Amino acid sequence: MRLVILDRDGVINEDSDHYIKSADEFRPIPGSLAAIARLNRAGYTVAVASNQSGIGRGLFEPAALEAMHAKLARLLAAEGGRVDHIAYCPHAPEANCACRKPRPGLLQQIARHYATELRDVPVVGDSLRDLEAARAVGARPLLVRTGKGERTLATADEGLAGVPVYADLAEAVDHLLRQA
Ligand SMILES: [Mg+2]
Ligand SMILES: [Zn+2]
Repeated sequence: MRLVILDRDGVINEDSDHYIKSADEFRPIPGSLAAIARLNRAGYTVAVASNQSGIGRGLFEPAALEAMHAKLARLLAAEGGRVDHIAYCPHAPEANCACRKPRPGLLQQIARHYATELRDVPVVGDSLRDLEAARAVGARPLLVRTGKGERTLATADEGLAGVPVYADLAEAVDHLLRQA
């Protein structure tokens, strides 16, 4: 299979330092949904791996997350696109779970879901932890400047070495589809 894994906040939808807590606050980044639809049309399965510690912090309920993802599915369907699988970590950092990125648990969940390997699978994120999780499973990290992307770049962290940087998901997808 041809799989692409996306972070959610800051890649698909606008991020907020105050967390995205409701479907109302879930607002797609311009061009991101069309980019997912283009991936689908090119034969890619699109999965999402997302830290959602707002649940563990008591900021919103799992039902609110379901509502956000229903909105995502509805808006995507209107563009002819689909996210096939969403793996999320609901835990607060203190829970010290195995799934919260930069740990690779969410990506491993996705690998199990599809019974596939993640070697060289593109993983698009806006934070260092996305890149680290991708690297931990041998996947291929890509960074976008949307969301926390500019802040991530400004860290000049060694984790950025060799990671291609794109303006947004639309540009990252252009690049992936040209390569394919
Ligand atoms: Mg993010
Ligand atoms: Zn977790």
